[in-house]
Amino acid sequence: MQEKIIELKKQLDGRTDILLVAVSKTYPISAIEEAYKYGLTDFGENKVQELLEKIESTSLPINWHLIGHLQTNKVKYIIDKVKLIHSVDSIKLLAELERQAIKKNITVDVLLQINVAREESKYGFYVEEIEDALEYVQQLQKVNVKGLMTVAPFVKNAEENKDIFTRLYEIFIDISKQKRDNVNMDILSMGMSGDFAVAIKCGSNCIRVGSFIFGNRQ
Ligand SMILES: *Cc1c(COP(=O)(O)O)cnc(C)c1O
Repeated sequence: MQEKIIELKKQLDGRTDILLVAVSKTYPISAIEEAYKYGLTDFGENKVQELLEKIESTSLPINWHLIGHLQTNKVKYIIDKVKLIHSVDSIKLLAELERQAIKKNITVDVLLQINVAREESKYGFYVEEIEDALEYVQQLQKVNVKGLMTVAPFVKNAEENKDIFTRLYEIFIDISKQKRDNVNMDILSMGMSGDFAVAIKCGSNCIRVGSFIFGNRQ
């Protein structure tokens, strides 16, 4: 694992502004602790139950990221335990995040997940739904949108996703020029093991990398 992390850092080429989220889903806590030892501090999980079990089973001060679809009835279990929720994909979920954040008197940082390629199989707002979501967020008290996230289509050659990544980067820049309460375009979360290099070239500043670090999942 150490060699993989060194190789990954080398590929990032000194770009300390890029947030590396190590996607640890399906891997045991021992793998997370090993990666932490090699300097990784931010870990991403896609399932609430698995995330909670991992949080329970380590004392390391890890920054946890939820990167998978979040059901509204599970918001209350994780809202005060994660640094960032990358996968906010509906107004209904924004409403529940606000409700639970008020209840706990905390603020919650989120990204809006955008289904740029309009894939039926994927969650996320369609591009034309972003405006309504941002307008909704502007009138909330406790939810901050910190940026955008996308999961690009599965392709043989990562270059095929260039247009998708570039499209989201342009939307990210457009929104960042607007002045809106509770909205700041700080984080553009795009790029995984197979396509992070392309995503970075297209403007990503947050990559979510699992199998490249930890090896193939079962
Ligand atoms: C699993 C997952 C990743 C990481 O995928 P790898 O190909 O293992 O790097 C990134 N983002 C999301 C949303 C995921 O579910």
